[in-house]
Amino acid sequence: MAHAYISKRIVTPQGTRPGVLLVEGEKIRDICSPSEIPADAVVLDCGDDALLPGLVDTHVHINQPGRTEWEGFRTGTRAAAAGGYTTLVDMPLNCLPETTTVDALEQKRSAAQGECFIDWAPWGGAVADNQLHILPLAHAGVLGFKCFLIYPGCDGFTMIDRQQLEAALPFIAESRLPLLVHAELAGPIDAATQGLRDADWRKYATYLASRPDQAELEAIRLMIRLCRQYGFRLHIVHLSTALALDELRAARAEGLPVTVETCPHYLHFSAEVIADGATLLKCAPPIRNKENQQQLWSGLRDGIIDMIVTDHSPCPPAMKGEESGRFDLAWGGIASLSVALSVIHTECRQRDFTLDDIVRWMGSTPAALAGLSHRAGALAAGHDANFIIFDSDAEFTVTPDRLHYRHAISPYLNQTLRGTVIATHLRGEAVYRDGSFAQTPSGREVTL
Ligand SMILES: [Zn+2]
Repeated sequence: MAHAYISKRIVTPQGTRPGVLLVEGEKIRDICSPSEIPADAVVLDCGDDALLPGLVDTHVHINQPGRTEWEGFRTGTRAAAAGGYTTLVDMPLNCLPETTTVDALEQKRSAAQGECFIDWAPWGGAVADNQLHILPLAHAGVLGFKCFLIYPGCDGFTMIDRQQLEAALPFIAESRLPLLVHAELAGPIDAATQGLRDADWRKYATYLASRPDQAELEAIRLMIRLCRQYGFRLHIVHLSTALALDELRAARAEGLPVTVETCPHYLHFSAEVIADGATLLKCAPPIRNKENQQQLWSGLRDGIIDMIVTDHSPCPPAMKGEESGRFDLAWGGIASLSVALSVIHTECRQRDFTLDDIVRWMGSTPAALAGLSHRAGALAAGHDANFIIFDSDAEFTVTPDRLHYRHAISPYLNQTLRGTVIATHLRGEAVYRDGSFAQTPSGREVTL
């Protein structure tokens, strides 16, 4: 039996329009007019609420198996469902074992079995010594590879130096999968940190000075050169410095296959508002100043930055070091799966961006990066019936009960945001509605 969802604002790849989202079983049958609703369909009028495709987050740290006390599939996907996501792609580090071999990938799959409220897929890792595992991982179903050009902040997953990277790149190019790069080089950071030995590490200014724009800029330059040489799909994760936008624009103009993401925290917070000791806002690369933030928004407007993903990277509360307030000792990572859409929607209302822009940045372009455009990230006939009912007017204050991930800590607590997810549907079924979740997790691994 078909289900018909009537809305004044259905966000489709052709624009936002009134109509009916017609769902049959697990798939979208059509987007049609009210006169075309089948006589036996179950009809739900969404009133003033908008219908958006389920969002896709290609940058999530689930940490399971191995560090489930930080975050796990059950808690992470629950938070994602509440935040309007229906697909996430898991990063290969901070779990044990790291996803750098097929054996580790199989352990990841076992851990995810029956635990996920939304669909998921794995990224693999490209580390110092696993070049010969790249193609086997690709054949086993990872959607791409992640590497760090600098120490990742956690032992186990190793950074990759230039020589090791160049040994891996022919395999990555052959796989035709994207390489996601944490683009900071140690040189400028080590040089900056030398002069900060006696600095006050409770001050945000100290942390910011320790991770200069130059570290990102030099790493991005290196990766663009390697992209030109080896012909792989390059994706820059969590761009923070706007100083790199011109070179990224030039690389795109040259026809290089380069894509770029940034994250809600770089678009919502700025260095000017981060209090000393506010280690909940530590992430790497760091949140920079207001002027930089304006330019990141311009990068989104111009299309140089393709997408907004969360980099949801939680840890147990003690690791955030709130007691000492020292930025050098705190874990770097900000969790935001359950509020990212509201954060970005709130910002967009002040900047004349539309729901179409948000869906492009948080739905269709991340789906394309992961190779999942045929099934996710857009409301289109034949796609999985992954969609959200979104009240764009509802205002709320972020409270711990709205976070839903493992540890309810967040720099977004007490912020007033506009726009809330009423319901999230995965392959036709509501997995989240009005603060409650489906009894049984029905998410599964999705593949290319
Ligand atoms: Zn990350």
